[in-house]
Amino acid sequence: MNQNGFSTGEEDSRGPLDKICCLQEDGFRCQRQAGNASYSKKIRNTVRQLKLHLDAVARHIYICDHHKNMIQSARTLKPSSQDETPEVDFSQLQMNTLRRYKRHFKVATKPSMNKAQMAEALLNHFKTISVNEKEALTFFIYTIKTNGNKLDQKNGNNNSDTPS
Ligand SMILES: [Zn+2]
Repeated sequence: MNQNGFSTGEEDSRGPLDKICCLQEDGFRCQRQAGNASYSKKIRNTVRQLKLHLDAVARHIYICDHHKNMIQSARTLKPSSQDETPEVDFSQLQMNTLRRYKRHFKVATKPSMNKAQMAEALLNHFKTISVNEKEALTFFIYTIKTNGNKLDQKNGNNNSDTPS
């Protein structure tokens, strides 16, 4: 028995090439050729969830690649992720960051605004932005390639934090 309970087939070259998969699907024995992956207690629950059964008459516990992939993807499947837009708390950002945001998007804020008010104003602006995925990805890759920051480049790389 291998240690992790689920062989990927990479490490075991002694696969029984003449055997068919030991699993039953819908009461019928799988007719695919068994690979190097084998059934184990670790995948038992997944096998059950997929309505597969270990064939009692099978004299080995090797499973086919089709079922191996099926079990693997079922095991790595994450619980349905939330598709909601993440809440952004602008008040958690530093004032410098808020100013940079304000400058970049030319958001109109009153000079008398305190940080909380400014954060709220910028957040309201933020919610109105629609993300252009292609553009965002292009900028992202560009930024990584040039090892720079789009905002810095746009502002001529100066570090002045004086509000414009
Ligand atoms: Zn199979």
